Amino acid sequence: MKIYNTLTRKIEEFIPNEEGKVKFYTCGPTVYHFQHIGNMRNYIGHDILDKTLRYLGYDVYRVMNITDVGHLTSDSDSGDDKMVKSAKDQNKTVMDIAKFYTKQFFDDFKMLNNKVPEVIAPATDYIEDYIKIIQKILENGYAYIEGGNVYFDTSKLDDYYKLTNHKEDEMVVGIREGVEYDKNKHNQADFVLWFTKSKFEDQELKWESPWGYGYPGWHIECTGINIHYCGEYLDIHGGGIDNIFPHHTNEIAQSEAYLGHKWCNYWFHNEHLMDESGKMSKSKGAILTVSVLKEKGYNPLSFRYMCLASHYRKQLVFNYESLDNASISYEKLLNKTRSLKENKNDKVNKENIKQYQDKFKEALENDLNTSLALTTLYDVLKSNLNNNEKLYLIKDFDKVLSLDLLKENEIDDELKKYIETKIEERNNAKKDKNFELADKIREELLKKNIIIKDTREGTKYEVK
Ligand code: AMP
Ligand code: ZN
Repeated sequence: MKIYNTLTRKIEEFIPNEEGKVKFYTCGPTVYHFQHIGNMRNYIGHDILDKTLRYLGYDVYRVMNITDVGHLTSDSDSGDDKMVKSAKDQNKTVMDIAKFYTKQFFDDFKMLNNKVPEVIAPATDYIEDYIKIIQKILENGYAYIEGGNVYFDTSKLDDYYKLTNHKEDEMVVGIREGVEYDKNKHNQADFVLWFTKSKFEDQELKWESPWGYGYPGWHIECTGINIHYCGEYLDIHGGGIDNIFPHHTNEIAQSEAYLGHKWCNYWFHNEHLMDESGKMSKSKGAILTVSVLKEKGYNPLSFRYMCLASHYRKQLVFNYESLDNASISYEKLLNKTRSLKENKNDKVNKENIKQYQDKFKEALENDLNTSLALTTLYDVLKSNLNNNEKLYLIKDFDKVLSLDLLKENEIDDELKKYIETKIEERNNAKKDKNFELADKIREELLKKNIIIKDTREGTKYEVK
């Protein structure tokens, strides 16, 4: 498998630390607000990498954090704590906010058929790990205490900027232009490992530490959770490209200062989803979520299809016109895959299917070329393979694509008959202008997780 590595700025052969096993970490959401479809594009990219590795036979162990403390409104150490600010604005406790948005996040995450990682780790559960790591970083001489906070001393590293293309001079200008400058820092690039000086006297989430009552910086959370679950050597670490600096740069600095050796070999970054005014972001007002798309009548998997049709390292511009186009292509694809019927007499010839499997694998092994993988799927549909061979391949490819290509086929016949009878009853009710009964039938189906949609081509249904 070949994958682009941000650390070396090259497409490289992927070689894990331990043969056949992959330790993979994804930076998870900061749960102070909804995650928009831009955030979700990033998780789809991670899901495809995760599933590709599994498809290729690797034993993948994947960890994702949930940031519920310490992420300030600027990714450097200035501004308000995002969680505290959101709790104040909504007159709720920080934990209520975290619980609410974590649930919303996973609802949307699952609607996109993303696989939930093996470990989901809320940052507030690992305070002892952060304290232990910070103590060791101080002992190793890579940190200092100033004004009540513990800072990482970036001047101790020759290669602090190794993950980024940033030049130190440019960074300094960037920081000068920032709103706040922390006078405690010995070097402008230094960052906080532990805060005891909160600007909020009523900050709810604080813990005892050797440096006083306080809370961890955002970056140390990912290091702490990573090492807790994956140990001293990590294979792949990923996030959106905005995480490269400062978040991942700081993670490398502190993890390697703690461990005393190279820590993570491959850095995987997803390009952004854009809107007309630039990067889709939470600070721009109304947040477009997967749930909102669903309320507008879109199948969330149309958005997944749209992401797969482009490359994860290319910017993708979102607008409704492109989503409509993706929806039409996706629906057409479903019509083809779901209408294929098994044929008792057809044999699945391994030789026939192998050439398509090889093409599919090759596309994904080449830095996750998902659009070429989709093309291979269309080639299968156009081919003269028999139906059983086609069905075999569609099911196989969908292990990675996760587009529910055969879902309807998988509904058992009894359920299908039930739904179709109900839809007929409802259509008759509508014909008779008995809208009360029509609505009652729709609700009855909804209670069974069957969603019906009236389209120009008739009533369609989906089972969740
Ligand atoms: P946050 O909850 O802000 O920490 O973001 C969660 C993840 O989404 C991070 O890995 C970000 O890099 C990523 N992200 C944020 N905005 C976008 C965007 N417009 N497109 C793609 N990924 C994004
Ligand atoms: Zn992180």
